[in-house]
Amino acid sequence: MDRYAVFGHPIKHSKSPLIHARFAEQTGQQLSYEAILAPLDGFTESVDQFRSAGGQGANVTLPFKQQAAALCDSLSERARLAGAVNTLHWQGDKLCGDNTDGEGLVRDLLKHKVALAGKRVLVLGAGGAVRGVIPELMAAQVGELVIANRTAAKARELAALFHHLGQVQGGGFDEVQGAFDLIINGTSASLSAALPPLKPEMLADGGCCYDMAYGDKPTVFQLWAADAGADVNLAGLGMLVEQAAVSFEIWRGVSPSTDEVYDLLMAQLGEAK
Ligand code: NDP
Repeated sequence: MDRYAVFGHPIKHSKSPLIHARFAEQTGQQLSYEAILAPLDGFTESVDQFRSAGGQGANVTLPFKQQAAALCDSLSERARLAGAVNTLHWQGDKLCGDNTDGEGLVRDLLKHKVALAGKRVLVLGAGGAVRGVIPELMAAQVGELVIANRTAAKARELAALFHHLGQVQGGGFDEVQGAFDLIINGTSASLSAALPPLKPEMLADGGCCYDMAYGDKPTVFQLWAADAGADVNLAGLGMLVEQAAVSFEIWRGVSPSTDEVYDLLMAQLGEAK
């Protein structure tokens, strides 16, 4: 049976084995998918062992996404731009890396009828996740993208890195000006129930909000978005399932149905409350 896995540290919490098992069942693909706890100083060795044992492809999560990019023999353009890889596969002896996080986010936004082309978009945060999604947001022809981060210098660095893709600016939260059609929270603040310093006037009339984090109840950012009058107010579970579907397509050449898996995970989150 073809073997796939996700590498991370920690990894116990990962929903990827469940997601890919469902995708395989739906599409009639014979494969196994396991979670592998790679030692913090042993990512490369873990990947090598997995390949020697017949591994065909893998996902990579925190904290190894940048290390994975460095390990690959070839990178997709979006993985090269992001400097981070979440999907590996082998072509013969060659290790190929891609980054499906951005496509996952864009698919989820478009699925919920959130328009991107020509829109003014504010992205909060300048960590690994934001780095991964900017190339795809720009490819979706966002009109203007502003990156705001607690550490302003990091937002400026990212803006400079992606400036060639279009109108991208970066700075601190206090430098944000005007109203946005879409505000994406790519900080990890929601995980500790914290909220970046936002003002309701930053959200345009009919504007939408997306928190890349998710939980068993609305995040603090989603609560803020509801108060600010967001037209569409989403959290990152959809992105998680969509990015997994893109990985599955890369490995198996077939498209699974994401709705069924999303509903299953939502039901599990509800039970965990
Ligand atoms: P990183 O650790 O790389 O970056 C964290 C970012 O959050 C930094 O920009 C940091 O700012 C900012 N931050 C942290 N705490 C606060 C706070 N209290 N107030 C304001 N800003 C804060 O994390 P990732 O980029 O990997 O992940 C970011 C989020 O995206 C997480 O919630 C993660 O769960 C989610 N995610 C979701 C995915 C999905 O599929 N749904 C996929 C990947 C990530 P500073 O630079 O100043 O430290």
